[in-house]
Order: sequence, then C-alpha cells, then structure tokens
Amino acid sequence: MAKVLDSKIPAGPVPEKWKEYKAHQRLVNPKNKLKLDVIVVGTGLAGASAAASLGEMGFNVFNFCIQDSPRRAHSIAAQGGINAAKCYQNDGDSVYRLFYDTVKGGDYRAREANVYRLAEVSNNIIDQCVAQGVPFAREYGGMLANRSFGGAQVSRTFYAKGQTGQQLLLGAYSSLSAQVQAKKVKLFTRYEMEDVVIVDGRARGIIAKNLVTGKLERFSANAVVIATGGYGNTYFLSTNAMGCNCTAAVQCYRKGAMFANPSYVQIHPTCIPVHGDKQSKLTLMSESLRNDGRIWVPKKIEDAKALQQGTKQGWEIPEEDRDYYLERRYPAFGNLVPRDVASRAAKERCDKGFGVNNTGLAVFLDFSESINRLGLDVIMQRYGNLFEMYEEITDVFPGDVANEINGVKYYKPMMIYPAIHYTMGGIWVDYELQTTIPGLFAIGECNFSDHGANRLGASALMQGLADGYFVLPYTIQNYLADQAVWPKVSTDLPEFAEAEKKVDAEMDRLLNIKGKRSVDSIHKELGHIMWEYVGMGRTAEGLKTGLKKMHDLEKEFDTNLFVPGTKEGLNVELDKAIHLRDFFTMGQLVAFDALSRNESCGGHFREEYQTEEGEAKRDDEHYFYVGCWEYKGKGNEPELSKEPLEYEAIKVQTRNYKN
Ligand SMILES: Cc1cc2nc3c(=O)[nH]c(=O)nc-3n(C[C@H](O)[C@H](O)[C@H](O)COP(=O)(O)OP(=O)(O)OC[C@H]3O[C@@H](n4cnc5c(N)ncnc54)[C@H](O)[C@@H]3O)c2cc1C
Repeated sequence: MAKVLDSKIPAGPVPEKWKEYKAHQRLVNPKNKLKLDVIVVGTGLAGASAAASLGEMGFNVFNFCIQDSPRRAHSIAAQGGINAAKCYQNDGDSVYRLFYDTVKGGDYRAREANVYRLAEVSNNIIDQCVAQGVPFAREYGGMLANRSFGGAQVSRTFYAKGQTGQQLLLGAYSSLSAQVQAKKVKLFTRYEMEDVVIVDGRARGIIAKNLVTGKLERFSANAVVIATGGYGNTYFLSTNAMGCNCTAAVQCYRKGAMFANPSYVQIHPTCIPVHGDKQSKLTLMSESLRNDGRIWVPKKIEDAKALQQGTKQGWEIPEEDRDYYLERRYPAFGNLVPRDVASRAAKERCDKGFGVNNTGLAVFLDFSESINRLGLDVIMQRYGNLFEMYEEITDVFPGDVANEINGVKYYKPMMIYPAIHYTMGGIWVDYELQTTIPGLFAIGECNFSDHGANRLGASALMQGLADGYFVLPYTIQNYLADQAVWPKVSTDLPEFAEAEKKVDAEMDRLLNIKGKRSVDSIHKELGHIMWEYVGMGRTAEGLKTGLKKMHDLEKEFDTNLFVPGTKEGLNVELDKAIHLRDFFTMGQLVAFDALSRNESCGGHFREEYQTEEGEAKRDDEHYFYVGCWEYKGKGNEPELSKEPLEYEAIKVQTRNYKN
C-alpha cells in the first residue's frame, strides 16, 4: 500500500534498543556534548560549503570525495552564473519574483515553500562569496555585474567570466581549508562511498573504498549527508564530468531512502552536437550565450538540405531567409525561454528537416547581430573562454567574419543541439533536507528539492550553496539536538560488518563474471536506450520498450561483463562497473516514473500529452504531486508514494512565455 508523504517527517524518538549496544558505544566527551561527528559525502559546491559551515559551527566533519582534491569536483564545470534577487539592475527584481520565476520555470511541480526559502537566501550567498573573495564580474563603477538567463525577464545572474562554478568552488574550498587547518574537517580524497550503514533505522555511517589501495573502510558518525551530484551520466553522453555517478544516491535508495521525481531530467538546448559514435562526452555551450547569441535555422527547406549536404554555409543565408524560431514563437522571452522549451523547439525544427549540419541534428547560435552592434571586444570580454573552447573542439571561431551581404557582416555561427545536462529528480528530502531515513540528509543536485520539472539556468549553484551554507547547517541541528546525549556507534557493530561484506562480495561478483564486454561498451548501449526511449520525447509504448531493453542489457551486464585486474589497488574499470550497476537501477527508475506520469511537464515530455502547438500539457488534477519511489529489490517494479503539492502563494496556471 503506497504511503502519502508529508514534507516534514519527524525524526522520531531514540529507539529503546540502543541500550543493547552499550558495549560498542564510544561515549560522547562529557565535557563537550556538542562535539558531534557528521559525515559529508561530496566536495562539490553543496558538499564543500556544507562541510565548511558545519566545521565552523563546531561539528567534527569527515568529508569525502572521489577526486584527488575537493577543487576537482564536477561543480567547477559550471560556466554561466548563479542567480540572486539583489536587483542591482533596478529592473524590478525581488525575492518574490525569483521565487515566482523558479516555480513557474519548474512547470509548477516544485515544493513552493522550499523555493521561497531558496529565493530568500539567494542574496546571502552572493554576500558570503564576495566576502570569500570570489572574483565576480563587475561593472565599470565597481558594482557586481549581472546577465540574464532563461525563464526570467530581469538580469539576476552573477558570474565570473565563463568559470563561475570554479571560482565559487575555490571560495568554498578556502573556507573548507580553514576548517581542515582548525582540525574540524578531515578530508578523505580518492574515497568512494559504497554504502550507507543503517543502525536501528538511522543512518549511522558509511562504507567507503579507498580508491588508491582498494581497501574498504568503515566510518561512523551521528549523521550522514550526501552531496554526490546528479545522475545525468545514466545516459552515457551528457555534459556532466566523466566521473559523475549516482552510486551513493542509489545505495541510499536501496537502503530505503525514497527517490523523488526521477523522470525530471534536464536536456540543455545549447551543447555541441554529437559527431560520431566514438565520443564519450558532450560539451555545454553556456546558456549565458543566449544573452547575445540568436538561435536560428533556415526558413527554406532547400537551404537546410544544402547545409546538410555541405554545399552551403550558414553565413551565406541572408537575414530574410533565417527563421529565428524562438523569437518567432515566444516574442516575450525570445532566445531566453527556459531550457525545456528551447530544447523542444530545436528538436521540432530538426524533426521537420531544418537541421543545419550533416546529421540534421543541429541549429545555429549566431553572434553576428551582437558583434555588429557591440564590437568583438565586448563580446570577447563576456564570452571569450567559451568562444575559445568552441574553437578548440570544432575548429571554428565564432568571432571570425565569414561573409558580407548588403553591407552587413556575417560571422561564423556556432552549431548547437540539446543534450542531457542536469537532473531535477533526486533523493526525496523533507523541508529540513532529511531523507526518509532519519539521520541521512541529501543536498545539492542529488536531492530533488527545488526545481520541479525543469531547472532554470544559474539556479543549481544557487541551490547547492543555499543548501550547504544556509539551510543544512541549521536544519541538521534539529536532528542532532537529540544526538548530543546519544553516543556515536562503533564501527564494530554487526550492521557495519554486514554492509562491508556485501560491498566486498559485489566487487568479487563483478570481477568474476569474466565475460567479453567492457564497461564502456555496455554503458554506451544503455545510453542509446535511454536517449531513444527515455529521452526528449517519451511515449508509453517507447518507455515499455526501453524498460524491456534495459532489463535485457542488465542481464548481459551480469553475465558478459569483463572487468580486468583485481580489487586490490587502483582499479578504475572496477569502479566504473560499480557505477554502471547503479546506472541500470537509475535508468529503470527514470523510465518507471516517466511511465507513471501520464502528462507532460517541464523536462518530462510525453508525446501523447501535448497542446496543438507542441507545448507540454500538464494534468494538475491527477499529477500535482511529487512522485516518490521505494526500492523493492532488483528486477522488481519500485513502489510509488505521493507527496501532494500545496501552493499557497502562487496560482497554478499554464506556463506562458509568449507574451
Ligand atoms: C557543463 C555544466 C555547466 C553548468 N553551469 C551551471 C551554471 O552556470 N550555473 C548553475 O547554477 N549550474 C550549472 N551547472 C549545474 C551545476 O554545476 C551542478 O548542478 C552543481 O555543480 C552540482 O553540485 P553538487 O555539489 O550538488 O555536486 P557535484 O559538483 O557533482 O559534486 C559531487 C561531489 O560528490 C563526490 N562524490 C560523488 N559520488 C561519490 C561517492 N560515491 N563517494 C564519495 N564522493 C562522491 C564527488 O567527488 C564530488 O565531490 C552546470 C553543469 C554542467 C554539467
């Protein structure tokens, strides 16, 4: 029988059974009962900011990451910026407006109260980061500069050239380092969490693998926080860093943490198109480029055909023959419609045959108008490193003049196409960011909390840092308050031994399959299935086919995988095999959720449910809830529970970006 979830599940009383473990208990230092231990898994923006803040507040923090330094977490990839409602542009922005835009951008599927809190703390984040010395771009007069991102008609995005994530992470890292120095945070780099340990229904520690020695180690704490990022790499090709994985989140799910809204996957409209089947990574061209770049395809199908055959170039097509389809369809927001809308519009044009490269799966992003208006210098100041990155990958420099028609200069346009980028779904958390397992918290991209069915650009960094600096450090104390009198458990408890044994046995299983296929070859096939059947356009029939194919491929994984080497020492292939095992669980979860949601909303587009104009058609009467899934064992369908959404401040309506 499915449960109805409430956004606030109290942690509950300390179980009587605790007394049984007395022999194992390491008593809390009676002189300072507030010296509690917290495990934080992840050193991206969410994890590093949380670990630094918890350390500063006096907790003993054990902070883990798979990279050799916290500074190499995936968060450094973030290019475009971070939102805040400072209203420095005096353009009518406010906390309410940021809140409203975010709920609307998420297609009215986010939890309203969480989003309001997010908008409220957004301004504190900027102050915090400026105090840390983050070099945000500034106006000539010294004021912090802003640019616009999709789904907003104000300029509220703070940025540091095209390296915002890296600069913010360096800021968080400096705070973290201060706590390492103060011995409040202990860093465990090149460690991977393989399992969460539950004792009497509470998260009490983790099993982590030292990725260099291959040894499994046990860690116990009063609470566990996971900040391990999203599951976009389930699709194999994505804009995420190659190391991004969902193993920690999936293990928590297997241990009883509910997983919310897995089908809400974001497909970003401006990525460098796929150009061959040997690729293992896709590259994002930041959404910030849509401030000055205009997206178009030819108006005439014969021009599109010529582009596809390579007999014509984009810059040979004059202004009057270009279809700036976003400006045409959405006059109020133009090129700055939210990502789900822009991605679908690109797919629609390409499906109709108007794609502009040899695969027919690309549209142009063109800077001719803005370079002519502002000059190349200004454009380079804004996007220099992005132009260079594009040139390095494609050998085309978007600032090169290529043609002149009727006195108008035409520059070489970028080619872009939608790609998997971000996952709005994640571990279900209550308002305090606690999962359905007491003592286990989830923050940043790995929780489902704030973005509904579609995340607006520059809001992930805002959410990660809001969670890490301003929400979790306070809410976790409500849980830890009753932990002050309860001791941290020993890692000798049978629960730890059993969890470690299982992880070890799993590694043996994977190594002993001794089949013929590499991890990557199976992962790539999984990615094809995901993109084809669980991607940008989904149907009930396609999802069922996708599930069947995933099931068959998982069997192939279980019987024909080849993992070289041993579990001792460094074995990257073994680590990847563990990740792939969990991508299978995740892929099926995404498909089950997508199949159960008979509506289209945000990034979840079911082709059966669309308006005549091809827009997402929601069904608020039946699907106005957070879909929460409970693991029921390998090969079994997970069970759906629902958290009904309640909106008090915002009227739920159909999204409109046209006027
Ligand atoms: C190319 C690109 C550009 C982007 N640009 C922007 C932008 O401009 N603005 C914006 O708001 N958002 C942007 N985003 C999204 C944003 O970068 C991410 O959502 C955000 O950085 C996620 O932060 P996080 O801390 O939750 O996770 P991550 O940064 O992914 O960090 C995860 C951490 O968990 C650790 N980890 C993972 N698994 C384990 C495990 N099992 N054991 C131990 N450690 C583990 C990793 O080592 C890492 O430290 C962009 C994303 C991409 C891909």
